[in-house]
Amino acid sequence: MNSKMGENRICELFNIDFPLIQAGMIWCSGWELASAVSNAGGLGIIGSGSMYPEILEQQIISCKAATTKPFAVNLPMLYPDSDKHIATIIKHKVPIVFTSAGNPSIWTSHLKSHGIIVVHVVSSLKFALKAEEAGVDAVVAEGFEAGGHNGRDETTTMCLVPMVAKKINIPLIAAGGIATGRAMLAAMNLGADAVQVGSRFVASVEASAHNNFKQAVISAQEGDTLLTLKEITPVRLLKNEFSESIRKAYESCASKDELKTLLGRGRAKKGMFEGDLANGELEIGQVSALLDTILPAAEIIAEILSEFKEALKEQNTTKFQF
Ligand code: NDP
Repeated sequence: MNSKMGENRICELFNIDFPLIQAGMIWCSGWELASAVSNAGGLGIIGSGSMYPEILEQQIISCKAATTKPFAVNLPMLYPDSDKHIATIIKHKVPIVFTSAGNPSIWTSHLKSHGIIVVHVVSSLKFALKAEEAGVDAVVAEGFEAGGHNGRDETTTMCLVPMVAKKINIPLIAAGGIATGRAMLAAMNLGADAVQVGSRFVASVEASAHNNFKQAVISAQEGDTLLTLKEITPVRLLKNEFSESIRKAYESCASKDELKTLLGRGRAKKGMFEGDLANGELEIGQVSALLDTILPAAEIIAEILSEFKEALKEQNTTKFQF
């Protein structure tokens, strides 16, 4: 067994050292970040939602050149050219795929027939059960604290993880609001086998996000994010001029079509990749308020694991007895 953390279903499933997974994030997680996380013993993920098929292919080739460790590709099912991405993933024998934002029964058996491990991201118990039924190998339960696309029901990680853990038999990865070792331990105490960390890795040296966005993430304070656009696709983002224009549109009872027009195309790229902090969509989790450094991914992982171990030791002390 490869796991340095004892028996762990996720370490065994993915053949990684630590049950720590970096979230697939559009415009932020390319091969540099994914390979750095995998090289440090976690699981790195290429976020393919913002990549044209030929770009994804280049990203996979670069990731393979940068690491011999397992890595994954995240495929948001809303992506217009999913079939092309899947053909590339199969062609290059990517070992693991995280699907999200869609129905897991569409691609799971096809991917699995090619020997690929499939994980699906959900925001509710109902979808976790559907994913298990669809035959996925593991589920990511992502709470309302998370950045980017999010659940309509606003279920927090604290509520979602134990509900899902109680009902499913396959391995469970907790996500949403987890950026530290103490949060990792808390999620595992709630029944998760592993954690998926997003926002913390946006504030990493290797993230492909624009430096303006990284700086905005580490400057964020409590209350600086909001979940909005539920009528289209719920998304958590940093408040800025663009989110203010959405708020005003809601105030004037804008229709779904008017909201779609306001959102337009390529807002996420404008904000996160091109660094337009006023007019772009800046997708980030609530936990950004806790972040104040931009570090190499390996240091982030070392910090999280060191705090995890310290907190685990404390659990066996009188601090937890009463
Ligand atoms: P938009 O429709 O606003 O814009 C599409 C963006 O994706 C453009 O910037 C475009 O780049 C790029 N792109 C890459 N491949 C394609 C393609 N085959 N066809 C069209 N555009 C492509 O979408 P978003 O930027 O909001 O989201 C893009 C994708 O990411 C979606 O699939 C969405 O589901 C996913 N997503 C996932 C999130 C998550 O939390 N997991 C959060 C937000 C989005 P260019 O400008 O260079 O043409």
